[in-house]
Amino acid sequence: MPALTVSELKSETNPTWCPGCGDFAVLQALSKAIVDLKLDTDNTLIVSGIGCSSNLPHFLRTYGFHSIHGRSLPVAQGAKLANPELTVVAAGGDGDGYGIGMGHFVHSVRRNVDLTYIVMDNQIYGLTTGQTSPTSETGHKTKSTPEGNIERPVNPISIALAAGATYVARGFSGDPNSLAELIKGAIQHKGFALVDVFSPCVTYNKNNTYAWFRENVTKVAHDPGDWDAAMIESRRWGAKNIPYGLFYRKEGTPTYEEQDVVLGRGVVPVKAKLGLAPEQVQEIVKGFY
Ligand code: SF4
Repeated sequence: MPALTVSELKSETNPTWCPGCGDFAVLQALSKAIVDLKLDTDNTLIVSGIGCSSNLPHFLRTYGFHSIHGRSLPVAQGAKLANPELTVVAAGGDGDGYGIGMGHFVHSVRRNVDLTYIVMDNQIYGLTTGQTSPTSETGHKTKSTPEGNIERPVNPISIALAAGATYVARGFSGDPNSLAELIKGAIQHKGFALVDVFSPCVTYNKNNTYAWFRENVTKVAHDPGDWDAAMIESRRWGAKNIPYGLFYRKEGTPTYEEQDVVLGRGVVPVKAKLGLAPEQVQEIVKGFY
């Protein structure tokens, strides 16, 4: 069933996020992207991990899978390979995706499975009430680093580029219209697409606030087909020097599905005949209970 309007796409479950949380804008932008692209909600899956932002699949009338911490990408890839006809979006936070999930992130990028990964990056662990996360800046004082974070933050844009990502973008919840366009581009892109989003945690991150980002972000200005320029841009950070927008897009790189010996022939595993009686299928399914 195609989603006709953003309000029809809303589920009966209302977000429990704190008022003002950046994740509301991501939900709004993703909803707009789904509606604008006229995606069939019966053929769209949103997979998440664990964290405040990972509650997102509950709020939309698509299919959803709320998985476990750091594991949205393995589930999302499995779903896409089982049914390449699905539109698959993985979503979660920076702690989920760039901490415990970092290994999956890098390997998902290099496999180039055709899916979109949205990371609501608030540079803190929000659900567990404000500890330093993998993207927290050096010196950031939190309840887990009261003297200031002594580690350097991971740079997800540089890492995605280095691992061979074919669509790399950074959005900002304070600019939901451009965020919706970045998400639309990611969904339309054939291959793995990263949309890292500055999505402020208004409750626990008092450093990287909406006001701080508004003061310091600039729009990406280079040619998104230029990988070297994208890598240089991705290294920028600091006062009035944090770029957001589309860093890199390269079409035509074969996806994992296209190269797989079975999927490449157009086989859709979930539609393949098992050659089993319904009772036998039920017996197998019971094994998963
Ligand atoms: Fe959003 Fe932070 Fe509240 Fe979590 S704790 S819902 S990330 S504002």
